[in-house]
Amino acid sequence: MIRAVSDRPGRAARPLNVAREPAAAKRKRAMAIGRALERTYPDADCELDYRTPWQLLVATILSAQCTDKMVNQVTPSLFAAFPTPDALAAAPAPAVEALIKRTGFFRQKTKAIQGVARAVGASHAGRVPEDMDALTTLPGVGRKTANVVLGTAFGQPAIFVDTHVRRLANRLGLTVSDDPVVIEQNLGALLPPRTWTAFAHRLIHHGRRVCFARKPRCSGCALRRWCPQISVTSAL
Ligand code: SF4
Repeated sequence: MIRAVSDRPGRAARPLNVAREPAAAKRKRAMAIGRALERTYPDADCELDYRTPWQLLVATILSAQCTDKMVNQVTPSLFAAFPTPDALAAAPAPAVEALIKRTGFFRQKTKAIQGVARAVGASHAGRVPEDMDALTTLPGVGRKTANVVLGTAFGQPAIFVDTHVRRLANRLGLTVSDDPVVIEQNLGALLPPRTWTAFAHRLIHHGRRVCFARKPRCSGCALRRWCPQISVTSAL
């Protein structure tokens, strides 16, 4: 049986059965998790460096299968050499490949960012569009990348479901789905839109620092009181 951990001295832990949790209780628990994340990571934000929505869009594409730290090491040179979508679209592919090589999959990523650059230049006058439909019609831009840009660069309510958000949302019993679109809908239904973007950033922070894929640090976790630890078989 899954048991919640009591943080009140002298009180026994009570069972936490999220499978039968009423919707109102789940919303209340999600809000409590959001507040605990806010206390723990008050300044959590995107860990990719960017100055414009265009730079964030490119950096997000480059971050696939790569750390944000590595992306941050290559983007200053990339944006200095090719500062606009038009400049990047017109660049010789080998020159772009050389600049982003350290992020891995550099040929595919070069094709991807040059394809996006061409589309942004041709269809949006060089400006990144500010809505989901337009963003996801750009080549290679999926819902996660679009939500990162909308929430982080444009300040719109957005929940981006990456590998950390997917893992933590399931462990926390806030969804039972592996489908990013369903997870986005489930989290969106539990939390007020004004909190969505910060919640997603903070969940990613927590996934990188505490709730690891293997051996999460449950013993010192700020969310433990509200976490049913779904599918956690080994923890620190
Ligand atoms: S570290 Fe453990 S207690 Fe904390 S959110 Fe992850 S699974 Fe839950």
